Amino acid sequence: MNVFVTGGAGYIGSVCVEELLNAGHTVTVFDNLTEGHRSAVDTRAAFIQGDFNDRDLIHSTLQSIHPDAVIHFAAHALVGESMTNPSKYFRNNVGGGLNLIDAAVAAGVRKFVFSSTCATFGPPDRVPMDETLPQRPINPYGESKLMFEKILLWYRQLHGLDFVAFRYFNAAGASAQFGEHHRIETHLIPNVLQVALGQKTHCEIYGTDYPTPDGTCIRDYIHIADLAQAHILALQPDKTGFYNLGNGEGFSVRQVIDVCSKISGKPIPTVEKPRRPGDPPRLVASATRALTDLGWKPRYPRIEDIVSTAWNWHLRHPTGYAD
Ligand code: UDP
Repeated sequence: MNVFVTGGAGYIGSVCVEELLNAGHTVTVFDNLTEGHRSAVDTRAAFIQGDFNDRDLIHSTLQSIHPDAVIHFAAHALVGESMTNPSKYFRNNVGGGLNLIDAAVAAGVRKFVFSSTCATFGPPDRVPMDETLPQRPINPYGESKLMFEKILLWYRQLHGLDFVAFRYFNAAGASAQFGEHHRIETHLIPNVLQVALGQKTHCEIYGTDYPTPDGTCIRDYIHIADLAQAHILALQPDKTGFYNLGNGEGFSVRQVIDVCSKISGKPIPTVEKPRRPGDPPRLVASATRALTDLGWKPRYPRIEDIVSTAWNWHLRHPTGYAD
């Protein structure tokens, strides 16, 4: 298929593009490079630097490329930042996304695959979390993604645009070539590995008084190559709807730090800090629908393998894409 990928220079997008190309698809990456990196774009893909907040540009681009499918990764995705700058999240993730989906409809795109998030649920009434749970986000990031999920439902009903929306749990790990490099790193695993690399003196733990066994937040970490595979399965013509993507097992912040220390062989000094606003205590997926309906089979479900692939990438790219 001819696939148009927004955010293909970003962390999850870069690995999905690599897997799409390996599977024989033709890929055009569209990315404004504010968060992404040019060198994270697989050399086999076409690349356009652009921003979908420019409505005319995204319309003319999709008219000329005429893709079969759009995979939409590009978004602002930091819970903490969304609590201090909600406007940035609603403008880009909802307003910009609307430009893109309108352009997709106008260009006759058949399938729209969307990166949503477990943050659309807010603190769940039960774990593991399946797709039937009520969605009550507690931060603007999750709310912006939920708003776009609703737009997808209306556009399927009114324009006949098929969609698959994935609620990612915590994306982690790396492929041999592409890994996680944010210019300002806020995510747990890369922050801890930067300590192991000697680039930071310590790792901060945001909150030790959560109602969890060791007092720190629990998350479900999922390898990005497994996320990428789900996107390829979503391109099948008869697939549509919402899917939660995680491994069904939760690890606390302290457990993740211990695994990183074991894999890297380095001590990880920690400093305990107050809670980060907007963080639910425990998010763990039930991915049964993706497993049964899409035929999705995670290849790297073990947290040790996820951290190992991330550590190997960081060892080979100590300054990320800066080199
Ligand atoms: N976290 C932490 N120290 C860090 C980064 C993150 O304690 O340096 C915690 C964060 O508060 C959350 C968990 O680790 O409970 C996962 O955070 P991350 O930012 O990686 O992903 P999120 O769950 O926010 O998408």
